[in-house]
Amino acid sequence: MAFTIAIDGPAAAGKGTISRAVADHFGFAHLDTGLLYRAVGRKMLDGIAPIEAAENLVAEDLQDDSLRTPEVAQAASKVAVIPEVRAALVDFQRAFGRRSGGAVLDGRDIGTVICPEAEAKLFVTASAEVRADRRFRELIGNGLDVRFDDVLADVRERDARDMNRADAPLKPAADAVTIDTSKLDIEAAISAAISAIEAKRGIS
Ligand code: C5P
Repeated sequence: MAFTIAIDGPAAAGKGTISRAVADHFGFAHLDTGLLYRAVGRKMLDGIAPIEAAENLVAEDLQDDSLRTPEVAQAASKVAVIPEVRAALVDFQRAFGRRSGGAVLDGRDIGTVICPEAEAKLFVTASAEVRADRRFRELIGNGLDVRFDDVLADVRERDARDMNRADAPLKPAADAVTIDTSKLDIEAAISAAISAIEAKRGIS
């Protein structure tokens, strides 16, 4: 049985944590689609043309330790505006979405472009300040030397690029349930997500 859960939203809204918890809860496979764009961004920083990098991506490119750095995140959002880069990554994501046993995909355009037929769609968001604060703590926790104002500027810059691009811009699907995590702790956000999906499972 295929059942697709699409989870979209801006950077650091809690999508990753919610997606992993939802996948665990339902026993579904999980794909963090941002990693695909980060891997292409990493290759661009290494001097490889982004389209060529996207067309030749292999599983081990997703293991690189530097993929989580702010530098690679910015590069990812730059390569993500290139339609040919997005096109090269579509088939893999769609096939993952229809695998038997159920799938959770998180990203920016899953409910709108990659899996418009997904049985359940969530849009996970939070204010830019709350998201920057979470990302700041995470980076400091990982031993990186960063300033809050720079992290906030980074979040805003990436939001603007993701929301304003012509191809597959970040926006909620018309039939997505929005979860604003600004005032929710992680347990509350996860249970809101699970309840919203259970409601769809009941009617699918
Ligand atoms: O989710 P994450 O922060 O890892 O994504 C990195 C960048 O990849 C995003 O800022 C966005 O530009 C791009 N992306 C995308 N479509 C997706 C997932 C990520 O354009 N489905």
